[in-house]
Amino acid sequence: MKNIDIIVPCFNESQVINLFYETVEKTLKNIEGYNFKYIFVDDGSKDNTLDILKTLAKTDEKVKYISFSRNFGKESAMYAGLKKSTGDMVLIMDSDLQNPPSMIPKMIYYIEEGYDCCGGYRASRKGDGKIRTFLTNNFYKITNKISEVDMPNGAGDFRMMTRKMVNAILALSEVQRFSKGIFSWVGFNTKWLSFENVERAGGVSKWNFFKLFSYAIDGITAFSTFPLRIASILGFFISSSSFLYLIYIVLKTLIFGVDVAGYASIITINLFIGGIIILSCGILGEYIGKIYLEVKKRPIYIMTETNIEDKK
Ligand code: UDP
Ligand code: MG
Repeated sequence: MKNIDIIVPCFNESQVINLFYETVEKTLKNIEGYNFKYIFVDDGSKDNTLDILKTLAKTDEKVKYISFSRNFGKESAMYAGLKKSTGDMVLIMDSDLQNPPSMIPKMIYYIEEGYDCCGGYRASRKGDGKIRTFLTNNFYKITNKISEVDMPNGAGDFRMMTRKMVNAILALSEVQRFSKGIFSWVGFNTKWLSFENVERAGGVSKWNFFKLFSYAIDGITAFSTFPLRIASILGFFISSSSFLYLIYIVLKTLIFGVDVAGYASIITINLFIGGIIILSCGILGEYIGKIYLEVKKRPIYIMTETNIEDKK
C-alpha cells in the first residue's frame, strides 16, 4: 500500500484544527488502498495549537506533529514537513479548510495517471479585497514575464506531489524559500484543478498588506535578476542622453556664449538622476541582502518538539 503524508502548516489555528481534522478524516474514510499520515507543523503558535495537536496525536496514531521554537513562517513550516515526510506522495494543505479536502481523491487519481504533481488553483478571488486582487493579478503578470519560472495566478501551495518531486524540492538548499517559485522551477508534469475560494473556517488570515508586499518583492528577487538589469538599462539610457545633451550645451555655449538661466532644468535633471541612483542602490541592496542572509546558512527552522521518529 502506498503512503500519503498530509503536511499542514499551523500558526495560531486552535480555532480550526479540530474541524480541519474531522473534515479531512471524513474524506479519507472513503479512500481505499492508501495509508495516510498527517504532519502538522506548529509554526511557533502563541495559542494552544500545540496542545490540540498533542491531544489529537494521543487518539490517532496517524497524527504527527513538529513544533517550532518560534514563528518561522509558512515557507519554513512546509519545508520542515517535506523534510520529515516519508510518504510516496505528499500533500500540502492549509489548516483553515480553504483548500477543499474533497479534492484529495481527484489529486490521487491524477498522480496515479502519471503526473508528478497535482495542484489546486483558485478559480476566483471571492472573499479577497479589490485592491488585494488587483495587486496579486499584476504581481503574477509581472513575475511570469521577467522570471525563469511560470507561476499560475491563483495557484498556492495546495498540491499533491510524488516522492520524486519532493526530493527535488528538498535538494534546493536555499534558506530564503519562495515555494511557489521552487515548485515551478523544479519542473515535472503538473495537473491543475480549479476550486472555488471559500472563507476561512475560523480565525483570521495571517497576511496584511505589508507582508504581501514584501512577499511579492521576495518572489521577484528570488527567481529573477531582471530588476538589476533595469538599473543597468536606465543607467545606459540616462548616461547616453546626458552625453548628447552635453554636446549640445557645449556647442551652444561656444556659439552663443554663456547663458546663466537654466536653474529649473538643472534642478530637475539633478533630482531625476538622484532618484534613479537611489532606486538602483535599493535594487542592489535587495540582492545583497539576499546574499547576506543566504551565506549565513542559518537553519530554516528550529524544532523543539515532535512525535516523529527519525528516518533510518
Ligand atoms: N501559516 C503558517 N505560518 C505563518 C503564517 C501562516 O504556518 O507564519 C499557515 C496558516 O496556519 C495556514 C496557512 O499557513 O494553515 C495559510 O495561512 P493563511 O490562511 O493565514 O493565509 P491565506 O489563506 O489568507 O493566504
Ligand atoms: Mg487561509
